[in-house]
Amino acid sequence: MFTAKNRQGDYFTATQANISHLKAKTDPFFCPACGEELILKCGDIKLPHFAHKRGTRCRFSSEGETKKHLLGKKELSRWLLYQGFEVQLESFLQTINRQADLLVNGKYAVEFQCSTVPPSQLLERTNDYLSKKLIPIWLLGQDIVKNKFSYAFSNFQLCFIRKSEELGYYLLFFQPEKRRIECIHHLAHAGSKYFFGERLVLPLAISIKEMQLKIKAVKGHRRKRYQPHREIERERLCYYYAKYKSRSHFMQELYHAGFSLYHLPLQVGVQLDKQFLVHTAPVEWQFSLWIHFFDRLEVGEHFAYRAIAERFRACVVPLKVLTFQDYEAEELLKEYLLYLEEKEILVEISSCNYRLKRKMKWRQHSQIFS
Ligand SMILES: [Zn+2]
Repeated sequence: MFTAKNRQGDYFTATQANISHLKAKTDPFFCPACGEELILKCGDIKLPHFAHKRGTRCRFSSEGETKKHLLGKKELSRWLLYQGFEVQLESFLQTINRQADLLVNGKYAVEFQCSTVPPSQLLERTNDYLSKKLIPIWLLGQDIVKNKFSYAFSNFQLCFIRKSEELGYYLLFFQPEKRRIECIHHLAHAGSKYFFGERLVLPLAISIKEMQLKIKAVKGHRRKRYQPHREIERERLCYYYAKYKSRSHFMQELYHAGFSLYHLPLQVGVQLDKQFLVHTAPVEWQFSLWIHFFDRLEVGEHFAYRAIAERFRACVVPLKVLTFQDYEAEELLKEYLLYLEEKEILVEISSCNYRLKRKMKWRQHSQIFS
């Protein structure tokens, strides 16, 4: 940590510039959270900072704090201070017993998250801030894993997905060593942990206002989604389920209902851009919608969005994201309804009212051996 107080309650922030001044002081420094005495440290590797004594029980002890985390807090606070923001580094909030990495204008709690922790901890922290009318802003401090065509994100990283009109679904990564924020935007799920996305680099050499202008300019820059061949996609799905999921609840249900994965209509099991919003596999929730909803309708019959949304909610487990409500998952249902409209299965006749145009067809047997 960078902040400590003396016996009189005055606060001190350790910086490269004042380190010798602080070292010359004979009064001890104390932790603003637990009151324990602190040691001033300045090595060659880490930035000057305060540390608890070994074996401390203080939960804000920074002994586990990495160089990256320390540097990140410092770079961010410097960048915000230059722009005239009021910044409190490591602000200890007594009433909720939390320490915000940065408190900006007394209103925003900025957290630079480098380590992977259980998502429930992030949610608790978020709710604590909200209860104090503080707006949490999370920046990820982890590496971005990029493959040839896609990015790979962990479940932990997905907790930080945000959404805006200009950027669609996006993730922010702060890289203090490079003094920049990387934004991966217009995320589209490619299946499992893989995503397609566009990259926008926001260097700390520019102000927040300039960043906002860069973000505004992104609009319309989105790439068209690569559409896999549906027949091939189904072959892969059959192979995958036979190999890894043959004993799953879903395969049992399918078997008992007298169906085989191979023969399900091709509009069941579609990988959509927003699939990441739920944990439930595409073929599983789409099968449930088909068997319990679409297949029970006659051609020409009308149905309300409300009715299908209710069915959808019953068959998916939504992804927990810090900034989303659970109903965000319905964006995936809307995408699926648009897809079915494109395939002329249904048509939206008025706002939130649909008509079934045709039934989804069973797939015929493979002709390869004939
Ligand atoms: Zn402490």
